[in-house]
Amino acid sequence: MIFEQLFDPQSSTYTYLLADEESRDAILIDPVLEQVERDLGRLGELKLNLAYCVDTHVHADHVTGAGILRTRTGCLTAVCASAGVNCADHPLRSGDQLRFGRHQLEVRHTPGHTSGCASYVVRDGEQTLVFTGDTLFIGGCGRTDFQQGDPATLYRSVHEQIYSLPDDAVIYPGHDYNGQTQSTVGHEKAHNARLKLDISEDDFIKIMNDLDLGMPKKIKEAVPANMGCGLPEAPKTGEVKEVEPAQVNNLGDYHLVDVREPHEWVGELGSIDVATKLPQGDVPEAARGWNRTDTLLIICRSGRRSRNVGEILVDMGFTDVSNLTGGMIAWNDHRGGSEQ
Ligand code: FE
Repeated sequence: MIFEQLFDPQSSTYTYLLADEESRDAILIDPVLEQVERDLGRLGELKLNLAYCVDTHVHADHVTGAGILRTRTGCLTAVCASAGVNCADHPLRSGDQLRFGRHQLEVRHTPGHTSGCASYVVRDGEQTLVFTGDTLFIGGCGRTDFQQGDPATLYRSVHEQIYSLPDDAVIYPGHDYNGQTQSTVGHEKAHNARLKLDISEDDFIKIMNDLDLGMPKKIKEAVPANMGCGLPEAPKTGEVKEVEPAQVNNLGDYHLVDVREPHEWVGELGSIDVATKLPQGDVPEAARGWNRTDTLLIICRSGRRSRNVGEILVDMGFTDVSNLTGGMIAWNDHRGGSEQ
């Protein structure tokens, strides 16, 4: 397996590049916005195809490069489902596996630093590697005083999900502030100042609650930016446009999505043959597989549910979303009630 540990000196963040030598499929873990050119450069030099960008959590100290890397390379982005990042392509759950060539990255939900933290386990021959993000640092751990952090939860995540790995599993943290690059599960069990095995859960909670740290400098900009995959606010992909039935010249210009419930598709208002029929609750999951530049036209009974669905799609990063004003009622009125 190809492996590189890259470093962003400004935020002391480690980004990891993993790839399969044969297929050349690659994964980046925790890319940093300011280092996107460096990462693209390495991918090019090594002739790799970026399959996934995964974040270990919604970072408070830097902005992820995942969204821009997706735009530039067509890779998929992934983060723990509990992080609630709607624009991510893959909401990850414990046990999920992301494949890159002959290798796979196994997801372990490790909440505590934030509620949406995951650690990633990769096996390379006999060796186990674990990418712990801010759940476990070399000699320490991430703080637990914001973003739904909770010391008891962090303690259990480390003991149950990371310390259950073999003692020689190599730990690659999300940050190091002292120039250290890696550790092992066995070493942390014996020496971690907060999480060695002879520290009880109660003692750990006290240590964490007594830390009294200042807020990270970038938290106000980084967290909202990361909830949007690190993409700039500016194009704010915009807004849901309202389209009157009379403005629709050719249905073929649109990816038409009917978000009513199944019984309504066959009810008195009928439905439009070419529409993709998806109850509103199923749209976000299905839309993850759609091209974000598709020209979408959302339709429901009266135009209200479809408006809500449209706003969700805009939040997910879709750039061309329209709502059929007045829904099927207005559509039928316009077409004299005779349309399909
Ligand atoms: Fe963090």
